[in-house]
Amino acid sequence: MEQASSSGRTRPVIAIDGPAGAGKSTLAAHLARRFGFLNLETGAMYRALALKAIESDLDVDDAAAMADLCRRTKIALEPTRDGNRVLLDGLDVSRRIRDADVTASASRASVHAPVREWMVAQQQALGAAGGVVMEGRDIGTAVFPDAEVKIFLDAAPEVRGNRRFRQVASHVHETAPVTEAAVLDEMKARDLRDRSRESSPLRPAEGAVVLDSTAMSLDEVLLRSEEIVRARWTK
Ligand code: C5P
Repeated sequence: MEQASSSGRTRPVIAIDGPAGAGKSTLAAHLARRFGFLNLETGAMYRALALKAIESDLDVDDAAAMADLCRRTKIALEPTRDGNRVLLDGLDVSRRIRDADVTASASRASVHAPVREWMVAQQQALGAAGGVVMEGRDIGTAVFPDAEVKIFLDAAPEVRGNRRFRQVASHVHETAPVTEAAVLDEMKARDLRDRSRESSPLRPAEGAVVLDSTAMSLDEVLLRSEEIVRARWTK
């Protein structure tokens, strides 16, 4: 029989946080497959809200307008074998939310405290039963401070910039040509905003294992993370 942890859950919450391009999505998807858990990408929810703001011609920097938008919005995450399917008011926006305009707006929309409160409440409901690998910026600090496993995945900015560049370049929706330097600059601006915002800034959570993947291969990151999960969660 499975044992309940101090959180009362019989299955764990695995929190994966860290800056853009650190490899969180790959790691979260791997751990979810490996342990048979759901993989929930919380960044996709911020992206979907930002997309709705763009489509509604709303200023993402306007906290009150964004708080009001939250009240009129439904976002669903459906974990699939190839990542999360994202539904915005019932419509599949999984691809559109990866475009550069949405990426930039999501970062700006995410600084507002009412937006974060709305997101956090939904994410807590999604993960309440455990058995999830939840990935984002504030999972171990704000969404599930009692997560059974917390990993903060980081890497040097240049390494992350290069990974993001390769991701962006392979995103067929992108029409304007992108350079690696532009991607690095944009990523650094997002990082700075994430780390310096007042409401749950990006930082390693208490009790998180910090993994710096700068000099690690993908396999090393995956294996080390599996060890961390096994050490902290015994069925
Ligand atoms: O992870 P992803 O790049 O898809 O996230 C998009 C944006 O949403 C990030 O730049 C970050 O500002 C914000 N975000 C956040 N908290 C989370 C997940 C994402 O602030 N838990």
